[in-house]
Amino acid sequence: MAKKITLLGSTGSIGTQSLDVIRAQGYEVFGLSAHSRVESLLQQIEEFHPKYVCVTDPAAAEAVDAALAGRADAPRLLRGPEGLVTLAGLDGPDVVLNSVVGIAGLGASLAAIESGHDLALANKESLVTGGHLVTQAVARHGVHLLPVDSEHSAIFQCLQDAHSAKTLKKILLTASGGPFFGMKAPELAGKKKEDALRHPNWNMGAKITIDSATLMNKGLELIEAVWLFGLPPEKIQIVVQRQSVIHSAVQFSDNSVLAQLGVPDMRIPIQYALTWPERGGPVAPELDFAALKVLTFDVADEETFRCLAACKKAIAKGGLGPCAANGANEEAVKLFLQDKIGFLDIGRLVEAVVDSDRFGGDYTLADVYACDRMAREYVRSHL
Ligand code: NDP
Ligand code: MG
Repeated sequence: MAKKITLLGSTGSIGTQSLDVIRAQGYEVFGLSAHSRVESLLQQIEEFHPKYVCVTDPAAAEAVDAALAGRADAPRLLRGPEGLVTLAGLDGPDVVLNSVVGIAGLGASLAAIESGHDLALANKESLVTGGHLVTQAVARHGVHLLPVDSEHSAIFQCLQDAHSAKTLKKILLTASGGPFFGMKAPELAGKKKEDALRHPNWNMGAKITIDSATLMNKGLELIEAVWLFGLPPEKIQIVVQRQSVIHSAVQFSDNSVLAQLGVPDMRIPIQYALTWPERGGPVAPELDFAALKVLTFDVADEETFRCLAACKKAIAKGGLGPCAANGANEEAVKLFLQDKIGFLDIGRLVEAVVDSDRFGGDYTLADVYACDRMAREYVRSHL
């Protein structure tokens, strides 16, 4: 039987690459969600015939409703953030893949888990903002949390041996360094969104591309790794690997290091999350070692790239610290993409929000959303 997938955020960079994998594997699509890209969603409906779709943006939902009116084969249309949560929890799929961007994906991740679904997670913000709630729900419902993020997929792939968890000593989380690697603050100050949106190795959505340029992405991934693999942050070393060929590595008690390599193509980790524990066929080109010739390694510059430093501080604070850092970053990236703040302001604002409170202790989902709102308001009032 072909696997059935619900794909949240199907119109994005990960979403469309996930559909490439679904097509290649001959999987069925149970549900799709989009926010605003109506044309793209309508084409996906034509090709994949989902039973349900959710459109979160109200105007886009109206447009999809109008386009599907009168069609006997139309999928059921759900709307808004509540519709997304409903879709994530519907019985039918074998796996829910969450590739929504931002904290907007958190409710859907929790709903999928609480309905007993395995969750393939690209939406790292779910773990960053609500890691405690997500991991507790996973344990309570006995489902699998399958990382899609390439670094976390690499670590996950290196830890498949049942004995590996017992002797895991350290994680080597690789980073491309982004388009501004090696630059210092005076040069970074003048960088505009057009510069930051040009990533050397990966073609991704706008928000994560900016996060890669500021190294916020690596900070978010550090937090994601802490939740996924249960190691404290001091046992997770960030290694700049400019070619994005080593996707991450693990080191064991005997100092043996295992790494996962491949071309920088997200379809490989997406497919692994969907086929796990099996592997599928070739979904991306082979790595050509003869053409590659060199692999380089560097240290990340936290003094310059303050987002990474701020994320480390946020982890040390615990509780809602990472949620505050994430909320501040989402707001700051939005303002940067609107040309309202400069590149270095992103790190300044994220760090200021993290420094502004203690954030310690347990939290509820309502606390997460309140903290996110606070962080965004802080950013807007400290421009
Ligand atoms: P994109 O911006 O390309 O896509 C985001 C998707 O989420 C789109 O389908 C978009 O809909 C939808 N969306 C946007 N806003 C909302 C909202 N408020 N509510 C519900 N849905 C919404 O992002 P990416 O695909 O690049 O990234 C998705 C996630 O995957 C992020 O968490 C990112 O960090 C992570 N990730 C991405 C990688 C990549 O290579 N791109 C690599 C590793 C992780 P629409 O387009 O219709 O507006
Ligand atoms: Mg990544």
